[in-house]
Amino acid sequence: MTTIASVQGILARLVSFDTTSRDSNLPLIEWVEDFLRPLGAELVRSPSEDGRKSNLWARFGPDLPGGIVLSGHTDVVPVDGQPWSTNPWDLIERDGRWYGRGSCDMKGFLALAMAHAEVFSKLPLSRPVHFAFSYDEEVGCAGVEPMIAKIAASGSAPSVVWVGEPTQWGVLSAHKGIRDYEVRITGKAAHSSDPRLGASAIHEAIDLLNILRGIAREQESNAPKASDFDPSWTTITVGEIGGGTAPNILARECRFVFDVRTVPGVNPDALLAPFFAEVERVHAKLSARGPECGVTVEIRANAPPLQVVRDSAAEQFIRALTGDNNLRVAAFATEAGQFQRAGFPAVICGPGSIDQAHQPDEFLAVLEVEKGLRVFERFIAMLRA
Ligand SMILES: [Zn+2]
Repeated sequence: MTTIASVQGILARLVSFDTTSRDSNLPLIEWVEDFLRPLGAELVRSPSEDGRKSNLWARFGPDLPGGIVLSGHTDVVPVDGQPWSTNPWDLIERDGRWYGRGSCDMKGFLALAMAHAEVFSKLPLSRPVHFAFSYDEEVGCAGVEPMIAKIAASGSAPSVVWVGEPTQWGVLSAHKGIRDYEVRITGKAAHSSDPRLGASAIHEAIDLLNILRGIAREQESNAPKASDFDPSWTTITVGEIGGGTAPNILARECRFVFDVRTVPGVNPDALLAPFFAEVERVHAKLSARGPECGVTVEIRANAPPLQVVRDSAAEQFIRALTGDNNLRVAAFATEAGQFQRAGFPAVICGPGSIDQAHQPDEFLAVLEVEKGLRVFERFIAMLRA
């Protein structure tokens, strides 16, 4: 029988690996592999291009379509500058809570899954149970893509992807998509007394930002009347901006970052087409000033929306497990949208509260783990049936 203590032991190990997204997650992946290999799991890595990180896909049971994927990310957000009262890499129990970075988001779910690995390995499974552990979720959800591609190419398409992000075991059926862009404008510095002699990067940025503001206003005024989302429309906000050196110098550089949250059905590329047309125009204008001048735009985060599919296999599965029949929408993005886009029904449900995610003194309530043991008991009963 799987116990709280076994989950705690595994979680303590997972938390002890500092898997801040900027660093390698390979020591954690190796430890997970060493844990799962003796249980007979089929293990497949899909590494990052630079080889510093890897996803891990593990399979119990037959290599057949129709399996259930337990999905979670191994990376965590930084602790830099946060006032922790405990060592974030040391799982500490206090007042019915387990403190540690990633305890809630989302190594707690990984630990629950792993604590049941031995049970999965001994069941006469008629369809597989998979673990899909990713990297770089916290920095734009890009890491999981090569693993999804591998799963899609495997010919063993799962019927359910269960993303165990913290929801306090409530079922989340949808979220908006996220695109974050970083824009860098390089102009030509000159004395402000004669703007003709240079090209202000800030002035060009203002023109570009105005277009974004216009698109954002249009989205709001054409907001869908009926929606699962609140706000119901696609939002665009500019979260960072900087540039220039002095009042009397035309700014050589300006950089800004903007965030687009799309409702299902809105294609961010189409939405931003007028912005990118203006980027082209500004870039051409600035490049004429010198080879160093111009505009670059980089995507920093890219997660498609997860849309509600009420009768999907994933919805039916998770509602049967949790008994939760409410329709809820997440205020955050996850990898579920990417799985859904690849054709795999996905849903979000896991231990802990998103309120504790990313915080100093992040914790997972032991009660949430107890609830989790019951959810997994029902899952195993379902697999036996
Ligand atoms: Zn997360």
